[in-house]
Amino acid sequence: MPTRYSNAKVWLGAGLGFSHSLTVDGKQIASNEIDCDEVIDCAGAVIVPAFTDGHAHPVLAGREHAGPAITTARSIREIQQAVAAWMAANPGDDWVIGGAYDRSILPDGKFLATWLDEVAPDRPVILHGDDHHTIWVNTEAMRRAGVSERASEVSEGVVDVDADGRPTGVFRETDAKDLIFNHQPKPSLAQEFAALEWSHDEMLRLGITAVQDAWVDDDLAGVYLQAAAQARLKVYTNLGFWWQPSNWHTRLTESTDARAEAVRIGNPLLHARTVKFFLDGVFGSATASVSQAYESTGEFGNPVWTRENLLEATLAASRAGFQLHLHAIGDAASTLALDAVEHCTKQLGSLPLPAVMAHLELVHDQDVDRFAKLDVVANFQPLWGRPDGMLNSCRPHLGSRVEELYRIRDVVDAGAKISFGSDWPVSDPNPLLGAFTAVKRQVPGETERHNVKQAISLEQALNAYSAASSEQIGITNRGSLLPGNAADFVVLDADPFEDATLLPSIHVVKTISGGQTLFTRH
Ligand SMILES: [Zn+2]
Repeated sequence: MPTRYSNAKVWLGAGLGFSHSLTVDGKQIASNEIDCDEVIDCAGAVIVPAFTDGHAHPVLAGREHAGPAITTARSIREIQQAVAAWMAANPGDDWVIGGAYDRSILPDGKFLATWLDEVAPDRPVILHGDDHHTIWVNTEAMRRAGVSERASEVSEGVVDVDADGRPTGVFRETDAKDLIFNHQPKPSLAQEFAALEWSHDEMLRLGITAVQDAWVDDDLAGVYLQAAAQARLKVYTNLGFWWQPSNWHTRLTESTDARAEAVRIGNPLLHARTVKFFLDGVFGSATASVSQAYESTGEFGNPVWTRENLLEATLAASRAGFQLHLHAIGDAASTLALDAVEHCTKQLGSLPLPAVMAHLELVHDQDVDRFAKLDVVANFQPLWGRPDGMLNSCRPHLGSRVEELYRIRDVVDAGAKISFGSDWPVSDPNPLLGAFTAVKRQVPGETERHNVKQAISLEQALNAYSAASSEQIGITNRGSLLPGNAADFVVLDADPFEDATLLPSIHVVKTISGGQTLFTRH
């Protein structure tokens, strides 16, 4: 029973131009020549391919959404009020876990446990920072974790301490955060399903029908597998299994088993093709790995892997048939990630799927050409390339290097494939806002622009959020609206091709995935 969406402006995909109607037959796009049972008059609405988020953390977003509503808080007082309100509404929950607080509220980042103690003297509190590499906790959380009275055994600089060496409430990067996380209760399966479902509904509302989950530990893999078995998934998901230097041998076995289980379950919405490596931290904490010392610390950041260990682990992942997905923020991390891809390609001849490098905030001149040469997909978070609080938090550490960040155009012009992702909940998952930023490099409504020579065209931006990001996660029949491709598309309430400045205010009015309408705006 084919359906025709007529009287529309249909963008077919990059380089393919426009048509006036789109025909759907079952799960696929069909030719506009065939007879249809149903014709929907779109009254001139714009249709574009549905979006794929090439790097996000949907379940983390869902878990945070279940905690205190601190994301929009603009002062310590507002955060305290949100925590107090949540505690009053949830008297039965022991731990208070939420996110993400705006770290730019305090330019020096010295959030104190005692401020949270004022509203939560007895219940442990963990609040995630908006970079998701930082947590702020209260005294009770540190007491339960056994770290309130002594300086931590993890390396200096990642735990804030007072003059006596006692932690004051902020923990940065995995090893330090784990001192607390190892004592927090695991979410129940019901809580995880609720987080997953909320995140899928949220993505569909924004026109996202496929996603790379870029941070899957063994517990989360179990949640996804059970969700797939119970047909709870609404958004096509590719899992990126998180491997660390200390556990990658075990993770190789666990990831291989989880992939086999996903294949056995056979839910077409779940794939497990990828392994995720964090190579470094973030600029806001001066933990990203850089080739020139930070102006603030005189140090070079915190590389997570030794070169030797990374080459060995990436080769093992590639040999086992997994795609590499490498988090690289500083220029030294990007160089090392490219070296690892080069090493694996040389050893194996070719890789199972093109390697992905995510974030790429600072890229060294000598590395710009290597993405195309090594067939690496450069996955950018376009929303970061604008003058906002997040960018400003990098300034004390990077100085004038801030003006060189997010070289999207340079990497495109060097012939590389680029894809986009949001890193949600690190930043807003709205692809239209991301596309706007890639094109304009500014905050909506403001005039200041960041590194504007790195702006790209609207077609390039939409392609990076649809066809290119789909291909990145291993789907080849999505992202352009040609006959035979998956009927995954969205209907918009205004035309970004007429005026790209409209993008931040455009709404998705319908999201169609596999021919089925999964979201309608009322
Ligand atoms: Zn991420």
